[in-house]
Amino acid sequence: MFPTTAAVRLTPEAVEAALSASASMQRSPRMAEGATTDAVAGQVAWAPAKSLWVGGMSAAALAAPFAATPGALALFVVTTAVTVCLGHSLGMHRRLIHRSYDCPLWIERLFVYLGTLVGMAGPFGMIRQHDLRDWAQRKPECHPYLAHRSSLVRDGWWQLHCELALTHPPLLIVEPRVARDPFYRFIDRHWQLQQLPWALVFVARRSG
Ligand SMILES: [Zn+2]
Repeated sequence: MFPTTAAVRLTPEAVEAALSASASMQRSPRMAEGATTDAVAGQVAWAPAKSLWVGGMSAAALAAPFAATPGALALFVVTTAVTVCLGHSLGMHRRLIHRSYDCPLWIERLFVYLGTLVGMAGPFGMIRQHDLRDWAQRKPECHPYLAHRSSLVRDGWWQLHCELALTHPPLLIVEPRVARDPFYRFIDRHWQLQQLPWALVFVARRSG
């Protein structure tokens, strides 16, 4: 699945140094390539777990208009703003993935936790998805799954219900600071459960 290690010369320390220098805005420092690494050849296949997860949330959202109250609407607006803006955008993307600003570790962890609540993936899953796409889009050619170059309907089906398996993918090397962080390891392992405590609190308050 991965390129032969002889062809991979990227070390975790080199990844950390590149990220500290904000190099990820111009290149993909976590991606190690071998002689055969290729962004084009690959197969898109239905991913049952992902499809059921996203499909279940989409189906629940269709029922939302019939259960809406002013309080539920306010909760939707506030939790969406907090998780998408502070969590996904500022935490996962700008800080964890691109290291485009500095902050104390507790703020980074809080924002990354809020980003995990979005329900797309945990910290390592988000780094993997993002960096693979950025790496591929910087190549002269890449698979249409990674370029979003299909029709709207097919791209929507692919992104929400399928996964791409590249025939010769690059090797992802996550910087040790993040890879060894016990908090990130925990929320990545159980990322789909992170919404559950909040859901229980909100449902209990509504019925209480
Ligand atoms: Zn990015």
